[in-house]
Amino acid sequence: MKIIVLPGDGIGPETMQATVKVLQAASSKFGLSLDLEHDIAGHESLARHGATVTPALLQKVRDADGLMLGPMATYDFKDEAKGEINPSKFFRKELDLFANIRPARTYPGMAARFGNFDLVVVRENTEGFYADRNIESGGSEMLITRDVVVSLRRITRLCCERIARAAFELAMTRSKHVTIVHKANVLKIGDGMFIDLCHQVGREFPDVKIDDFIVDAMMAHVVRAPQRFDVIVTTNMFGDILSDLTAELSGSLGLGGSLNSGSDHAMGQAAHGSAPDIAGENIANPFSLILSAGMLLGWYGQRKSAPAFIDAARAISEAVAQAVEAGEATRDVGGRLGTKETGDAFVARLLAA
Ligand code: NAD
Repeated sequence: MKIIVLPGDGIGPETMQATVKVLQAASSKFGLSLDLEHDIAGHESLARHGATVTPALLQKVRDADGLMLGPMATYDFKDEAKGEINPSKFFRKELDLFANIRPARTYPGMAARFGNFDLVVVRENTEGFYADRNIESGGSEMLITRDVVVSLRRITRLCCERIARAAFELAMTRSKHVTIVHKANVLKIGDGMFIDLCHQVGREFPDVKIDDFIVDAMMAHVVRAPQRFDVIVTTNMFGDILSDLTAELSGSLGLGGSLNSGSDHAMGQAAHGSAPDIAGENIANPFSLILSAGMLLGWYGQRKSAPAFIDAARAISEAVAQAVEAGEATRDVGGRLGTKETGDAFVARLLAA
């Protein structure tokens, strides 16, 4: 399996360094023969190549089996004409990575403020309220007059159907419960179509229980009783917001692993951003990126029917739970180690398991 590794901005390099060591350890322990190829994106690429991402890099990623993308300083990238392209958007759109899978769970040994839970947010990743990806050319935010802005949201039958299918298929491997999150009381046509298509796809999965919540009420429900949820399917921006909340409820945004997957490609990427407030201090939690790397291995294993990759993915996820319980973690989750030390202790744990 060839993986392109792009460290990214802010806490990206330090968390990716730890993640690469974990991938190398998993490769040797499980005989994966991983081929990791390092490249650059984000600020470093902007300085060196005049663009945060380049066509040559895209081709490299297309030719590889997977991508590990570090967090990017997307807020800094304002003008695509100056090469300031949002790398997350770029890969999601160009590789059609329509499903953003964001698990969140509590861990033994950590105080669960709202009770124990284990859920996954399945977020549509290619359209919705994202001005930089929902139309082919130009942005879908318009300055109508100096004082008036119009932002468009795109919802399509294809994207609703395929994200719904991804959610129901995932639910079949878990507790067989899908919750649809929407705002169909206001966005009656777009989210109305989203709900209808989720139910339509759901009829192909009669064993899966379905319910739905309006997104604002969902914020209260998920804080009040996160354990009542299993798989949550929603549109792009609602999923982006909800999954930061669920990651933080699990203990820290630094535990928010995520996978962006399509039919042919997948990208492991932490749910959080470049965290400039803690960058370079060796305190960022690397588990979000390590969990994302595990998910990428699992995706490849499923796709290629390669049990060693699935075993490696499971071992990484289990070792994160053990490391958090043992306090071999960064301080955001109650540990005392730095980013590098957390990564090194994790490698030792994985190899010893
Ligand atoms: P952020 O997610 O970077 O940080 C939010 C808070 O969580 C901060 O207090 C930060 O210190 C903390 N945090 C994040 N990751 C952590 C980790 N691994 N360990 C410990 N604490 C962690 O959000 P922000 O500060 O609003 O955004 C910073 C930049 O990241 C912006 O340019 C934003 O556009 C970008 N961003 C990128 C992505 C992405 O690449 N997928 C996602 C979100 C934000």
